[in-house]
Amino acid sequence: MALIREPVKFDSDMLDAIAGFGTSSDYYAGMWESEALLHVRRHVREYYREAQRLKCAYCGNQVSSRSAVAAPIEHIVPKSEHPRFMFEPRNLCVVCADCNEYKSNKATTQSELVLAKKRVRYPTKTDAFRVVHPHYDTYEEHIFKSGRIYLPLTPKGSWTIYVCELNRFFIRFGRCDELISDIELVKMQEKFFSES
Ligand SMILES: [Zn+2]
Repeated sequence: MALIREPVKFDSDMLDAIAGFGTSSDYYAGMWESEALLHVRRHVREYYREAQRLKCAYCGNQVSSRSAVAAPIEHIVPKSEHPRFMFEPRNLCVVCADCNEYKSNKATTQSELVLAKKRVRYPTKTDAFRVVHPHYDTYEEHIFKSGRIYLPLTPKGSWTIYVCELNRFFIRFGRCDELISDIELVKMQEKFFSES
């Protein structure tokens, strides 16, 4: 099952505020930070915190339940690349501050063909995406997480681990005690799965 079951909905007040910027083809990345959209951003953040039960969509670690900076709203297809999907409910989720930094504007879709600049409709098929999509994909089918170790189970898992640098703890600290203990954890889980 995907992490997010129901995408966010906007009330008429929010839709009015968004409509103040024109139609989706008029959107530009910078408008996201506009004061007039503050209540929209708050609503999106609160909604996905709840829907994801504070789980980061990419690494599974906890996002902040209070600080906005530590629960950034993620545009799965970057808003700098495709501003027209800025308010597409299925393009939104919350992530942790680190995943937000690492992923930044890195490619999430299969190719420019799939998401050509003039594309009007948001892709509804999971194969259009290179990353594990929190509205479409079952995380555990793509990534095996054990402690701080992330192992890819599919090309999508592999791409997500790469763009978010999910093994960042070990990229930073190398062969350390935590790595040894997390490897032990992997072995224990393997043993558990093979026996059950
Ligand atoms: Zn994360």
